[in-house]
Amino acid sequence: MKCPSCGKGISPFKVWLITRWSPITCRTCGKRFGRDVNVQLAIVSFLCFIGFRVFGLSWPLIVYALIVMLIDAKTVKLVPVEGEAKK
Ligand SMILES: [Zn+2]
Repeated sequence: MKCPSCGKGISPFKVWLITRWSPITCRTCGKRFGRDVNVQLAIVSFLCFIGFRVFGLSWPLIVYALIVMLIDAKTVKLVPVEGEAKK
């Protein structure tokens, strides 16, 4: 997962923390980003749902969730948060 503004890497573990209402802040350039609501988000949500159905609340779910998280971090599209431009 990379900052679209300065290109520095952002920890993939932070991808879970991004929602429409809670953006992440790039530690390098200080800009804030949310995630785009697109097909990628739908696919990741679907994968989470499938994993929960297949594994239930057990340890393979944790492994599966980690893999999904890394896929998510690789493919997520970060978008600058609205109203943050005036700085
Ligand atoms: Zn940055």
